[in-house]
Amino acid sequence: MKKLQNEITDFLKEKDWLDQYQHQKELAAALSVEAAELLECFQWKSSAEALAENREEILEEVADVMIYALQIVESMGEDGTEVIRRKLAINRAR
Ligand SMILES: [Mg+2]
Repeated sequence: MKKLQNEITDFLKEKDWLDQYQHQKELAAALSVEAAELLECFQWKSSAEALAENREEILEEVADVMIYALQIVESMGEDGTEVIRRKLAINRAR
């Protein structure tokens, strides 16, 4: 996961977006917008209809959500794999 986080950071550097968009609060807000865009893909459709009509768009929105999530993790100096494993352990113990 850290390799993927580094790829995202490299992309942000290429675009000169690294400093201006690396604040956790702004990243969380952007993630929420992307989650809403994902939900919009399903609006007024069954899951089956949405997947048939918008499969690629759904996957792109999922990727947007994941990219912002990984940017938050990276900005906090963490590895996404470890963060997910820690949370899975918490969920498993419930
Ligand atoms: Mg999007």
